[in-house]
Amino acid sequence: MSLDHPSALNDLSAFWMPFTSNRQFKSNPRMLVAADGMYYTTSDGRQVLDGTAGLWCCNAGHKRPRIVEAIKAQADEMDYAPAFQMGHPKAFELATRLRDMAPAGMDHVFFTNSGSESVETALKIAIAYQRAKGQGTRTRLIGRERGYHGVNFGGISVGGIVNNRRHFGALLTGVDHMPHTHLPENAFTKGQPEHGAWLADDLERIVALHGPETIAAVIVEPVAGSTGVLIPPKGYLERLREITRKHGILLIFDEVITGFGRLGAPFGADYFGVQPDLMCTAKGLTNGTIPMGAVLASSDVHNAFMNGPEHLIELFHGYTYSGNPIAAATGLATLETYREEGLFDRAAEIAPYWEEGLHSLRGLPHVIDIRNLGLIGAVELEPIAGQPTARAFQAFLDCYEKGVMIRTTGDIIAMSPPLIIEKSQIDHLFGTLADVLKTLA
Ligand code: PLP
Repeated sequence: MSLDHPSALNDLSAFWMPFTSNRQFKSNPRMLVAADGMYYTTSDGRQVLDGTAGLWCCNAGHKRPRIVEAIKAQADEMDYAPAFQMGHPKAFELATRLRDMAPAGMDHVFFTNSGSESVETALKIAIAYQRAKGQGTRTRLIGRERGYHGVNFGGISVGGIVNNRRHFGALLTGVDHMPHTHLPENAFTKGQPEHGAWLADDLERIVALHGPETIAAVIVEPVAGSTGVLIPPKGYLERLREITRKHGILLIFDEVITGFGRLGAPFGADYFGVQPDLMCTAKGLTNGTIPMGAVLASSDVHNAFMNGPEHLIELFHGYTYSGNPIAAATGLATLETYREEGLFDRAAEIAPYWEEGLHSLRGLPHVIDIRNLGLIGAVELEPIAGQPTARAFQAFLDCYEKGVMIRTTGDIIAMSPPLIIEKSQIDHLFGTLADVLKTLA
């Protein structure tokens, strides 16, 4: 078939879509063709309010001029530079900017191309760090039930989502999981629940079971996003930090969602006041426009590798596109947009309005829980008996028809708008969702 064959325009069969019910989608496609500010435009010319910042990534909204310009200018100046044994200035500049905005002590940045790659990178660094410190028996990794750490083998092994694990063989060995942080008695809590810090003590059980000398790192999302917005109880992350420190275990925060202002602070580590050893980021780093991720490492972690002859490679890891020039230029423009518009503070200011609007949905049909933190919100629905996920998915389809984009995971509706959202748009988002909930079977 020739490349310009006209059927290529309308044929949906070739693209095997990720995390999508391909047959359902292709029988009734939802095509987005343009985006600006808070809105997408669909192929049939409708405006759709973006209640999810794309996939939790377009934190500054869409088609932001500074970012668009940076992409164009960098493509025009230099498209690509080899990532190994060569450098280009913008990657160094972006690393410096990230260091400057990160919690004190997170002084070194390793570039990746996605959240999944950031996770693999952090897990590998953690194991190699322990070895570099003469603790080669520390290879075990501890994750959490209902954790999401992307889709590569390390990430699905430490992750706690059954469907992401069960189809893919034996996965990594030497992995264990703590319980998730969602307690039924905390239903309808606004913000962080008061009760449940004790859930972190399960790590002591795991340490006692395997021996601390076998454990390299613990990885958690400060707020578990993809499995339905599970908010850590007050004191929980602090307790995890205490236990990991006591046993010489590294603490990795997967901040792929919580990074870049989602909670009204630069990172979850800032919001909760808890310092990890490694942080995984992606998504909001480039406002979702060009794939890029970054792992931030403490000086202690980084410096453990900086021994031996200087001409030798210290970490046998990296990607062809680590610190890619167009991605780096995009990251710089994105961080500048956040800064000049004060978007992290803006998110903090509007978060109480978001919380009130979200919790006003309490009492509507099928709603069994509502959770929120920063500009993240979730509404959990009672599943239809025998048809888990069907009710929330219908809510998603109905909202889309009414011009509002939400996301669902299981029977949980998750929302995470761009940080530029206006109060009237919050009203529109929750008003539309309320109308849809009232009519759902
Ligand atoms: N980690 C967390 C916490 C995430 O939420 C995600 C994506 O949603 C990832 C990792 C994976 O990121 P990516 O899809 O860019 O690989």
